[in-house]
This record gives sequence, C-alpha cells and structure tokens, in this order.
Amino acid sequence: MEPLDRSTIWPYRDGRPGDFYYQRFAHPTGAEAERVLGELDGGEALLFPSGSAAITALVLAELEPGRTIALAEGAYYGTGELFHLLEGWGLRFVEFDQTGPPPAGADLVWLEAPSNPFLTMPNLEAAAAHPGRVVVDSTAATPVYLRPLEHGADYALHSATKYLGGHDDLLLGAVVCRDQDAAARLRELRGRTGMVAPPDSAWLLLRSLKTLRARVERQSATASELAGRLQAHGTVDRVRYPGFGGMLSFDVRGDASRVERSLRTIANATSLGGVDSVLESRRRWEGDRVPENLLRLSVGLEDADELWADLEQALSKA
Ligand code: PLP
Repeated sequence: MEPLDRSTIWPYRDGRPGDFYYQRFAHPTGAEAERVLGELDGGEALLFPSGSAAITALVLAELEPGRTIALAEGAYYGTGELFHLLEGWGLRFVEFDQTGPPPAGADLVWLEAPSNPFLTMPNLEAAAAHPGRVVVDSTAATPVYLRPLEHGADYALHSATKYLGGHDDLLLGAVVCRDQDAAARLRELRGRTGMVAPPDSAWLLLRSLKTLRARVERQSATASELAGRLQAHGTVDRVRYPGFGGMLSFDVRGDASRVERSLRTIANATSLGGVDSVLESRRRWEGDRVPENLLRLSVGLEDADELWADLEQALSKA
C-alpha cells in the first residue's frame, strides 16, 4: 500500500516549493487516490472531505449569483436542500424530469445516475446536447457501471462515502473533470477555501478502490436477485431497480416502519454502498416527496438467501 503521510508541511527544494509543501494545497496520499480514481472515471479527479463538500465546491467554482441549476427531480434530497441553502447567495435552481431534455436557460445541468431513491436513469444524450455544463452524480452507478465523461458530461461527481469507500468507515467526495482548466479552477477554490480531504480518509479510499469492482459486481448480482423476489412478493407494491448496482427501493403494502424495525440481519440505518446491507424508510428524511411506505435497500456482501430470509420475515410484520 501507498504509505499514509499525515504531514502538513514538506521542505522546499533549493528554496522552491515542490509538488507538496502545505497539506491544504495537496498531499501525497490524496494525490495517489486522485490518480487511481481519475483513471477509473477517465478524467482529472479531485477529492473533497464529503460528497456534499464536492457539490458545494463545484457549484461555487462553476456559477455566479443569478445563474440557474437544473436539478434532476427525485435526486438525493440533500442535494436539493443544499441548492436551496445556496439560493441565499443568489443561485437559482429548478427541478426537471431527467429522463427527458433539460430545461432551456439552465447554466448547469445536474443529473443523478441512478437517482436516489427513485432509481431513474438520466437521458445523457439529451443533456450533452444542452448548451449548459453537465454534472452526473454517479455515486450509485460507480465507474464500474457508468463513466459519465464518455457520454458528454463535463463532470462526474461521487459521494465516495458510499460505494467507492464501501465499508462505512470514511466520509469523502470527489469530482472528476473532463477539462483541465476546469480542474485547475476547482483546485484553486479547494485550496483557498480549505475544503480538503484528510490523508487518513484518502488512504482508506485507496484500500477500498482495490476491491471496488469485486464488491459492486457481487452487490449488483444479489440486488438483482432480491429485486425479482420482492417484485413477486404479495406485500410489495412496486420495486424500483435500474438493472445494475446495489441500491433498490420498494413500496410496502402495509406499515413500512414495522418492516424496518423487524429486521435482524439487515441493519436499519441510513446511507448506502457498504459491505453490510442497510434498509430504511426514506419518509423520515424526505417527507411527502417519497411514497409513505417506500423502503430503500442497499445490498451488501451477505449471502442472497440470508438477506431474503430476513426480508421475508420482516415483510410478514407489515
Ligand atoms: N450524492 C448522493 C447520490 C448521495 O446519496 C449522497 C449522500 O447520501 C451525497 C451525494 C452526499 O454525500 P456525503 O454524505 O458524502 O456528503
């Protein structure tokens, strides 16, 4: 493994700063994690201390007051809440159906692949034809299933807290840029604002990226199997699953809160993308934006039959 270097300063060479001189601007563990992630997504990667910090930095680097973001309807609710907060600084945002073309006049088109927790996929071709810059939050797809820059997006964005980290033990975000000038602008903003990912988390990410493909392919196979079984279950109304990845959501006929509290193997917890399965009702966070009995399941690496047995017994309590 790449050594973990927690230094905040490195000596100048012959009186001149080298690649690393002050941790806020760059550090070797972060640079190595960015190199690996950049290769996976086919662009220039920059790490941030969380997915939300990555979103904030990208919006601040891209837009001035008065500019408009077109956000995919049903995307991670925290992204909409964050844009709402940034309206106080003069940004505007509108929501649109990402399965169709983005609205005219938007300066930045914000897609999510697939959306969390509605699991819709964006129309990448329609977005690429739009004059605005295009961001794809591909947290749930991961570079294993989607490389947005190859589909005309300007940026791929990740909450690396999820699948990239994969073990529920690190909080990180990443923006992968197609254009080097855009990456330089973002790097400057990151250094000046100090939105810097810590070396410890970057090191954990490097560890995790070695197993990314193996983890998400297995999670995807299990999620696909469970989506089919849930669809056929009498207590389940509707299953949302895009056909790949480890996240799905479904509506329960009955009391979803009783189902989540009856689980034994699957943890009743938030987040997604870890090696341990988690399930929660999203109503507690998102209010009436989601159906009352919508449950989101993030499938881990447990045995599919073991997970199904737990879901079946919990569904019987609905
Ligand atoms: N994007 C998506 C799709 C998410 O699901 C999340 C978190 O749930 C975020 C961004 C924000 O990431 P973080 O929690 O690392 O700030």
